Amino acid sequence: MPKPSFTAFIDALPETIPFVGPEALERRSGTAFRARIGANESGFGPSPKVIAAIAEAAQQIWCYPDPENHDLKSALAAHLGIEADEVTVGEGIDGLLGLAVHLFISPGDVVVSSLGAYPTFNYHVAAFGGDLQLVPYAGTQEDPMALAAKARETNARIVYLANPDNPMGSYWPAEAINAFIQSVPETCLVILDEAYGETAPAGTLPAIDTTQSNLLRFRTFSKAYGMAGMRVGYAFGNTRLVNAFNRVRNHFGVNRLAQAAALAALADQDYLAATVSAIAEARDRIATIAQTNGLRALPSATNFVAVDCGRDGDYAALVLAELAQRGVFIRKPMTRGLDHHIRISAAPQAELDILAKTLPEALRAAYGAG
Ligand SMILES: *Cc1c(COP(=O)(O)O)cnc(C)c1O
Repeated sequence: MPKPSFTAFIDALPETIPFVGPEALERRSGTAFRARIGANESGFGPSPKVIAAIAEAAQQIWCYPDPENHDLKSALAAHLGIEADEVTVGEGIDGLLGLAVHLFISPGDVVVSSLGAYPTFNYHVAAFGGDLQLVPYAGTQEDPMALAAKARETNARIVYLANPDNPMGSYWPAEAINAFIQSVPETCLVILDEAYGETAPAGTLPAIDTTQSNLLRFRTFSKAYGMAGMRVGYAFGNTRLVNAFNRVRNHFGVNRLAQAAALAALADQDYLAATVSAIAEARDRIATIAQTNGLRALPSATNFVAVDCGRDGDYAALVLAELAQRGVFIRKPMTRGLDHHIRISAAPQAELDILAKTLPEALRAAYGAG
C-alpha cells in the first residue's frame, strides 16, 4: 500500500522522548503512586488566588486568549524592571526552548550543552538537525568556563546552561555566570535556563541587562509557583532576540486560563516567598531522611534534592524500582558519573512521611538484589 512519506530528515530522527511521565508508569503498573516526588513539581501547589483566577477565567473560556499575552507580558516586564517588548511568553520553558532552537539552528550547526543536563533541550536540537556537543560536568556541577571554551572552539550557534542546575540541584554564583557569558562569542546565543531562579540563594541570578545582544534567560511558573500543569513560562532579553519569537511562535498557544493564572501568581509574591521557605524546609527534611539511611544528600538551590545512593547507577535504578513498587515516584539522572544519585522533589510532609517509611525498605530490598 502506498503511504505518505515523511521527509528524509524526519525519517532519520530518533524515536527517543525526553521523559516518560508518571501517568505512563501508572498505566503500566496498574497502580497509582502514593507520593509523586519525581518530576520537580511543587506539591505545595499554587496560590489560592491562582485557583480563584482560573475559576473566574473559566467563564470566558469560549473566547480565544489574547494572542499578544499583553497583560501578562506587561506584568512580567514590571516585575523584572524591563520593557514589555523584552519579554515573550510561551508554553513553558520547554516550548520556548524549541522556538529558540528553531530561530538559530540550521541542520549541521553546532549547539553546546552539558552531558547529563536538561534533556528536552537536546530533543529540540535534534528536531532541527543541530550538531549537539556535550561538555562533562565538573563533579556534580555544570562547568560554565568549559562550556564557553567549547562554544568558541566549535563556532557554536547556541550554548545552553541551567543555573541552578537540573538534575543535580547545584548552582554557580552570578559572578561565575557573568564571566561565562562574557567568554562566549557574541555570535553565539547564550540560553540561560533559570527554571529554579526563585529557589536559588541570593546572589545566584545575574543582574538583568537586556543590552546584552546574545543572551536569553528563561523562567517558568512550573516550579516554585506550583503550576506545572498550566504550561506557562517566559523568556527575556534583548528586544531583537525577543521579537523574533513572534515569527515562529504559536500565537494562541498560551491559553486563557494560563494567562490569568500566571498573572495572579505573579501578583502574589507573598505566597511565592512562603512556598520558597516550605521548599527549603522540605529539602532539609529530605537530607535528614537520606542521612538517617546512611546516604548523602547534595546541597540544593532548587526544589529537589539529589541523593547519592552510594553505589553505582544500576544500584540507584534498583532503589528507584523498589520505591516505585511501594508507590513512590522518583527519577534519577541517567548519565554515567551522575547516575548513582536519585532526585527527590521537595514536597509536603505527608509525601515525605511516605518517603521516610519506604526508603529503608527499598534500600534493604535493593541491597539484597544488587
Ligand atoms: C522543569 C524544567 C524546565 C521545564 O519548564 P516548563 O516551564 O515546565 O516547560 C526547563 N528547564 C529546566 C532546567 C527544568 O528543570
